[in-house]
Amino acid sequence: MHILRTRNQLLDYRNSLTQPIGFVPTMGALHDGHLSLVDIARQRTKCVGVSIFVNPTQFAPHEDFASYPRQEEADLAKLKNKAVDFVYLPDTHSIYPEQTSPSYSTAPLGQQLEGITRPHFFDGVALVVSRLFTQLRPTYAVFGEKDYQQLTVLKKMVQDLNLNVEIIGAPIVREADGLAMSSRNVYLNKEERRIAPHLYLTLQAIREKIYSGTAIKKALGWGKENMLTNGFTKVDYLEACDSETLSPTHELQNNIRLLGAAYLGSVRLIDNIVL
Ligand code: AMP
Repeated sequence: MHILRTRNQLLDYRNSLTQPIGFVPTMGALHDGHLSLVDIARQRTKCVGVSIFVNPTQFAPHEDFASYPRQEEADLAKLKNKAVDFVYLPDTHSIYPEQTSPSYSTAPLGQQLEGITRPHFFDGVALVVSRLFTQLRPTYAVFGEKDYQQLTVLKKMVQDLNLNVEIIGAPIVREADGLAMSSRNVYLNKEERRIAPHLYLTLQAIREKIYSGTAIKKALGWGKENMLTNGFTKVDYLEACDSETLSPTHELQNNIRLLGAAYLGSVRLIDNIVL
């Protein structure tokens, strides 16, 4: 497994490759959700690479950039076990050699849902992913449906910028009780961890209610109450959205995704399911 720590190391390595590359960008603190993306990349290409970079431009000043879990040694062991071909762990300078302002705007797609609470988040994600793509020139890049809006924004970015990368969406990997795996789940205390699966359980119950005839708006209203009753401290949003435009809808139609974000104390969880 090649370990590449600078842009120059990556470019040299890249120039030595002729075969297609499957790429999995991450922020590390790897769990089985991340590793499932490696498996999906491997179905497409022999050569699979993972990046680990906690991207400063997608964190707001009050967010957890400094305390975001970092566990390089354990991550590398997991990737080695998966026979990953290379890992790119760039220093900040390799990605951001100069003071940068985003050149691609993810508005309006990136301003809804997550974008309301985190207005700069998707521009920061788009910036880092576009730089990684430019350096690495992968054929495929795999992203989890766990961050469904991110996946949608990046598919649009690749189209808008005419980038020669195929974006592949991967199903959400969950804990046994339904909680979507996330590097931030380590922030949950014991009581919060007990409550956390109710985000997923509520999304499923909303779906059942809609299928048995409850209006979407009413089912979503019930869902918010149910989450608060079960111990969530704040529901950021709970919406039924068109799965491509992410526009909220209260009309039953094809291709609807139910998406939610909620707080347990200071920990913010997100999840989504197909309606
Ligand atoms: P992160 O390290 O949180 O930026 O995530 C890196 C990639 O892993 C993103 O494409 C995420 O959507 C994906 N991912 C994170 N958690 C999961 C999960 N539970 N199931 C599937 N993919 C995931």
